[in-house]
Amino acid sequence: MPATDRTMLEGARASVDTAVSGLGLGDDMREVLLQPWREVTVGLPIRMDNGSIRVFEGYRSQHNAARGPYKGGIRYHPHADLEHTRALAMLMTWKSALVDIPFGGAKGGVMVSPRDLSQGELNRLTRRYTMSMHHILGVNRDIPAPDLGTTAQTMAWIMDAYGAINGHTPGVVTGKPVEMGGSYGRAAAPGRGTAFIGCLAAQDLGISVDGASVVVQGYGQVGAAAAATMADAGARVIAVSDISGGTRNPKGLDLLALDSHIKLGGDVIEFPGGESLTNDELLELECDILIPGAIEDVITTENAPDIKARLVVEGANRPVTAEADPILADAGIAVIPDILANAGGVIVSYFEWAQNVQVFRWNLERVNRELDNILTRAYHATRETSNDKGVSMREAAYQVAVARVSDAIQIRGFIH
Ligand code: NAD
Repeated sequence: MPATDRTMLEGARASVDTAVSGLGLGDDMREVLLQPWREVTVGLPIRMDNGSIRVFEGYRSQHNAARGPYKGGIRYHPHADLEHTRALAMLMTWKSALVDIPFGGAKGGVMVSPRDLSQGELNRLTRRYTMSMHHILGVNRDIPAPDLGTTAQTMAWIMDAYGAINGHTPGVVTGKPVEMGGSYGRAAAPGRGTAFIGCLAAQDLGISVDGASVVVQGYGQVGAAAAATMADAGARVIAVSDISGGTRNPKGLDLLALDSHIKLGGDVIEFPGGESLTNDELLELECDILIPGAIEDVITTENAPDIKARLVVEGANRPVTAEADPILADAGIAVIPDILANAGGVIVSYFEWAQNVQVFRWNLERVNRELDNILTRAYHATRETSNDKGVSMREAAYQVAVARVSDAIQIRGFIH
């Protein structure tokens, strides 16, 4: 990332600052909104398969629980440090508030490259993390979910380790395998929601989704589901990538063939149904809709002037830096912010939690219908604020979210 661009935490704080000013809230409330309520750092000693011991560092940042229990994913990534985790925790508070579900915001992380660990090592690491954190987790306290580098399997291990201490508690984590109390539709929800919001925004901008060209960075849980949903809606997905690079076909990629290629162990860049390209080239392709769905800080002051999409929909968390935002705006490129675009994951996590608490299961049709309803409401609340106040969709989303959290802090008499 260029030195001119602020870090993710600084960018997240700046968005809150702007919203606080736009809403006319005072400096006292600004401080309360920016400060995490609790943070825990733990050392995690693990016996590796070769008999040696390695100690990993783990984190949980609980940003704010004014509107309900803390909620947020756990990330296994070599760059997952406390500052990063703190920024992502804050995003979760605003995301839950914007879509009006009864959760606060948190995030967890372990500084580790999960690709380098065996399944046995990952299981032991996850159990150790859970044992070290279980006193601050709970169905009415803090409910983790998957994020980069963690999966439904990771959530099943957490549920098992937490249950060994506290009794069977499936509602302590979401994003579990369906066999373990997971919700139908949870795995696809963040990507499906990203595409759904992308379609609403495209309509508003006069872009016809039928035949629209779509580029997706990150063909993982979010990106693959976003691409598939866009293709189902009639769009042409002309390029996608993973960490190794991308594949491009201006006529539209055959996503089913790509999925089979990946299932057989292939990387996206080697897909025979397209031409290979780098992630940098992919971001700068001419297209109607660009979905950065891999990691943060990929559209910066360096490449923002070269982005040729008409609409950018943030599938990943904070892929556009605070400094790149105005460059895109000046070029007439609309940006739909992460806290709206990828909220499908936490919404269906909320459904999963509610199903677990009620010991009852919804079918997929109900999950998707209720997901679409919540996303539609959140999109229109953001669009109306954007129109009424003449601010960007990001500023509008933050104003809606920050106002709700600030109201909750005051109504519950948290500061007395
Ligand atoms: P994932 O691990 O399933 O997929 C990530 C994809 O991005 C993979 O294809 C990976 O190869 C690719 N990638 C990683 N580093 C890259 C790089 N430097 N350049 C290009 N591609 C790269 O993760 P995911 O769950 O799909 O999450 C993706 C993003 O969406 C993250 O920012 C995450 O925080 C966010 N998110 C995830 C969820 C969820 O429920 N999974 C919900 C909301 C937001």
